[in-house]
Amino acid sequence: MADKRDYYEVLGVSKNADDAELKKAYRALAKKYHPDANPGDATAAEKFKEASEAYSVLSDPDKRRQYDQFGHDAFTQGAGGAGGYGPGGFEFTGDMSDIFGDLFGDFFGGGSRQRSARSGPMKGANVASAARLKFEEAIFGVQKEIEINYKEECASCHGSGAKAGTSPVTCPKCGGKGQVTVTQQTILGMMRSVQSCPDCKGTGKIIKERCPDCSGTGYKTIRKRIQVSFPAGIDNGQSIRVAGLGEPGTGGGPRGDLLVEAVVSASNFYRRQGKDLYATQDISFCDAALGATVEIPTVDGDMSYDIKAGTQPGTRVRFRGKGVPDVRNKDSRGDYYVTLNVVVPTSLSKEQREALTKFDETMGGAGAARKKKKGLFK
Ligand SMILES: [Zn+2]
Ligand SMILES: [Zn+2]
Repeated sequence: MADKRDYYEVLGVSKNADDAELKKAYRALAKKYHPDANPGDATAAEKFKEASEAYSVLSDPDKRRQYDQFGHDAFTQGAGGAGGYGPGGFEFTGDMSDIFGDLFGDFFGGGSRQRSARSGPMKGANVASAARLKFEEAIFGVQKEIEINYKEECASCHGSGAKAGTSPVTCPKCGGKGQVTVTQQTILGMMRSVQSCPDCKGTGKIIKERCPDCSGTGYKTIRKRIQVSFPAGIDNGQSIRVAGLGEPGTGGGPRGDLLVEAVVSASNFYRRQGKDLYATQDISFCDAALGATVEIPTVDGDMSYDIKAGTQPGTRVRFRGKGVPDVRNKDSRGDYYVTLNVVVPTSLSKEQREALTKFDETMGGAGAARKKKKGLFK
């Protein structure tokens, strides 16, 4: 509550603003930030809520007086200053649309409430599922069989929900429109708004005798096995959309979609970052010093690689186009980076030790010095 912006500041009006000014300021903000005009924009939603809250307080003479006197404390439950506003006082925790929904029929010629209440064909909801993919399957693409819950049209009533031999009748309350117009007292005075018909829940039809096989829902939920194709390059957490396998639509609308998320197992060897792959390959210190041809694993199979003589520990080699295919174009592949880890032997035979010591002496006698040191401690 402490960091709440001043309501006058929110609306951009002076403390002496009259009702007309408040209304004008709020309408401008509400139009700009209304969720319908800014789908998915959290900042706009927040601003819309903030403006709505400010307006609801300042447009009410009693609340405005309380606010002018006590600030935001006037509307905090249990706050000392306000007196009159206890638990029954004004508080903004509920859904804004409950309070303002009616307002927007006026603003937008069919606001959020009306939109959700319409009875025309509506697409069914999307359904989420998931499939487990092996690391390499995600790289090269795979077809997976998965099982989903699927609402299948009831064979007895063919989706109508009405008992065999009967059919749904037109809802008498809304005349089949699925919507009713109601007049309500709101903060802007009397408002007419369109709401979903309470009798038929917006469907426009009433079922007198329910189909016993589906309890009147028109659908039966079955387990359905389906094939889902994951393209090459799909990454962990990405989803595949399968059109038409979601929830059934209403009013003759199409079914929603099925979204299948790829849950990709990690690899013991490779690390993936977008389209690029990373791995660490051990090489012997002799190979690093002398150079050698070694086999390096790639997702396409082992590949010969010539280690240059004098390769340093931690050297990173890049294999162009040996990474992960672009999920939109499998011919465009990322790169593969291999870090060469020079392995120092942890145990040496007598011969090896002697050979190395001889080698060491040729490098400037450090071995001789070490021998001397050892002798000192003996
Ligand atoms: Zn049925
Ligand atoms: Zn109705």
